[in-house]
Amino acid sequence: MLANPILPLVRIVQMLYITGPFERIAPILDEFNEPVEMAASTYPDPKALLLPYLEDLQLFEQLKYPGQEDPLVLDETLKPLDRFESLELLVTQQILARELEKINSLLCGPCGCTLCCLGPSGEMDQVFFEIPLHEQETTLFSIPKIDTEESRQTDPYAEPPLLVAGAPFFQAPPALYHWKKNWSLILPKEGACPNLERTSGGCTIYPDRPDTCRRPQIFPYALERLPEHDTVERPAYIARRKLLAIWDCPYVQELREEIGAYAQLCGLTPIFKWNKA
Ligand code: SF4
Ligand code: SF4
Repeated sequence: MLANPILPLVRIVQMLYITGPFERIAPILDEFNEPVEMAASTYPDPKALLLPYLEDLQLFEQLKYPGQEDPLVLDETLKPLDRFESLELLVTQQILARELEKINSLLCGPCGCTLCCLGPSGEMDQVFFEIPLHEQETTLFSIPKIDTEESRQTDPYAEPPLLVAGAPFFQAPPALYHWKKNWSLILPKEGACPNLERTSGGCTIYPDRPDTCRRPQIFPYALERLPEHDTVERPAYIARRKLLAIWDCPYVQELREEIGAYAQLCGLTPIFKWNKA
């Protein structure tokens, strides 16, 4: 999967849609019934590979059938990008998120590693790890929720730290926090996610696990959300055109070259960074 990413095929669909007589995206996929070979990648059944992404690809139809407002995508100087580039980046982000979820699951699920489900170990400098959550994902955890006026006015890395029962929040057992920016699960030193099965190393909610747990080590960074630039009608993003891979993960280190090649085939710059070390 790393050697044959879906995005080079997506670029061909996009080019055919813009330059060809096609009104809709679906008929273009019918043209992909022969194997496709590119310099570095081979796709024996490209139509079958593209079909699961049809809904994402249909976002391009807004180029010929403008309907709903496009998102606001800014370059790094905060200048708005044109509609084509904005849609291309949005499609890239969505498709990569879905493809990388499959790739991450193949690496992470079966290997029995639990590094991402634990708080910092004793010798680490960090005093907590944070797993960002969507509000609806908080129901997946049976642990205390801290949702107070004080928590909603601060963030986990702010100084002075939020106090819980008179002590810094990261000295309390694992809990869910409603911060100014988002919800998150806070794992203190030597803490563990309540959904981690300590003896087997498995996740007891694996099919329903939160978004963050679905792409723990390789994730798309083509776009970054920029809520402070939202308009009344349009959510704002900034174009980053990068792929992030977390170096703490043993599989990222092992597959470094393959991940770098995958990013380049997708037109993104690979960034390898430590998270927990
Ligand atoms: S929800 Fe599952 S995958 Fe996510 S941190 Fe907890 S145990 Fe790990
Ligand atoms: S370090 Fe890598 S293999 Fe281990 S749990 Fe995290 S993502 Fe999975």
